[in-house]
Amino acid sequence: MLRPQTPEELAFRAEVAEWMRVNIPEKLRYATFRPSPHEAMSWYKMLAARGWVAPHWPVASGGMGATPTQQVILMEEMARAGAPDFPTQGLNHIGPILIKCGTPLQQKRFLSKILSGDEIWCQGYSEPGAGSDLASLCTRATVDGDSLVISGHKIWTTWGHHADWMFALVRTSDGTRKQQGITFVLIDLKTAGISRRPIRTIAGDDEFCEVFLDSVRVPMENIVGEIDQGWKVATALLSEERLRIGAPALALKALERLRHFAAALPRSSRIEHLLAEAEIETETLIASFLNVAEREAAGNRPESSYLKVLATETVQKILDSLQEVAGESAPIRDAVLTSCGYLDYSEMFLQSRRLTIYGGTNEIQRTIIATKVLGLPRGRRSA
Ligand SMILES: Cc1cc2nc3c(=O)[nH]c(=O)nc-3n(C[C@H](O)[C@H](O)[C@H](O)COP(=O)(O)OP(=O)(O)OC[C@H]3O[C@@H](n4cnc5c(N)ncnc54)[C@H](O)[C@@H]3O)c2cc1C
Repeated sequence: MLRPQTPEELAFRAEVAEWMRVNIPEKLRYATFRPSPHEAMSWYKMLAARGWVAPHWPVASGGMGATPTQQVILMEEMARAGAPDFPTQGLNHIGPILIKCGTPLQQKRFLSKILSGDEIWCQGYSEPGAGSDLASLCTRATVDGDSLVISGHKIWTTWGHHADWMFALVRTSDGTRKQQGITFVLIDLKTAGISRRPIRTIAGDDEFCEVFLDSVRVPMENIVGEIDQGWKVATALLSEERLRIGAPALALKALERLRHFAAALPRSSRIEHLLAEAEIETETLIASFLNVAEREAAGNRPESSYLKVLATETVQKILDSLQEVAGESAPIRDAVLTSCGYLDYSEMFLQSRRLTIYGGTNEIQRTIIATKVLGLPRGRRSA
């Protein structure tokens, strides 16, 4: 930690460190496996009860209203103490969008249940034919009285088979541009006509699923923004999502893991070099996150694309170093004894492959940076 801190920040850090030391369930401490919904949500609810589950939400919406530095302190102390992951689609994706664009009724209905962890959310954007080219989506919705009737197929829906609600993009009309005619809607996953099929990842967990919608009726009051005008809401959400993926939480976690493994091995100049490199890169990421978060403005922020690329590639680089440190143990999936108990080399490495894909692939983020930040012309397609 290279940054200067005020006495208040130092006191906050000490308070967080002590609370994490006492309260993280031992079974989940330093876990790389994805905790079961029951375990993950118990931990979520503990953080919620302490008032620390939504540091980036404004106080008026039930959040902590934390400064970017306080947010980073929380991430640093959680990583140091081995705090487990939990679902963040409610906190980091739909929550901030409802705060900005939701109706008072939607805010009243949904925000407190996101904060308390009583309702789990998932994101229904991607479809088998619409990933990077999201606006090609073809899940259809037609207006019938005071409802939308939705049919289609979503895929790669993180935690979709454990979620209570899904925010989704559906096509309500065909405009001259494919971005027109898309509607952003909130779907109760208990509604008749919905089925879900889990998909297993390379890391062995059932991170995501497919969601099939067959004539699913959704009240019109569940539309966020205007009918046919959902693209603006969708991209504002993606910008928020990338800012949160761009936070240093995962890099700090990977760095902590590298430190523990390095401490369990005979020191060498190569290990010292990899550790120093990882520490400097994590500090660079923290500085970039603080910079973007402090200038945070409403709406679409192209800087979030830069942060997403930097954060995800930093994590992958640190975990590549961990593989190098592991040497011939790298492919072993069994846990190895380290200074903080049994850890395994490969699970976090395998999980980190997904980082440069979700939230919009890093290739797409580079195009956004080139065209929207640097103002470079879009490449011409060859005939
Ligand atoms: C772990 C994980 C969790 C996910 N969770 C969710 C979720 O909760 N909800 C959800 O809606 N989606 C989710 N996704 C889906 C994710 O958003 C998409 O996988 C991603 O947008 C890429 O789309 P695609 O898989 O269709 O790949 P494609 O779009 O087919 O891309 C394939 C490859 O081609 C490259 N490519 C495509 N177009 C271009 C271009 N114009 N220029 C340069 N390169 C290009 C891509 O970068 C990529 O390398 C998740 C994905 C993963 C891996």
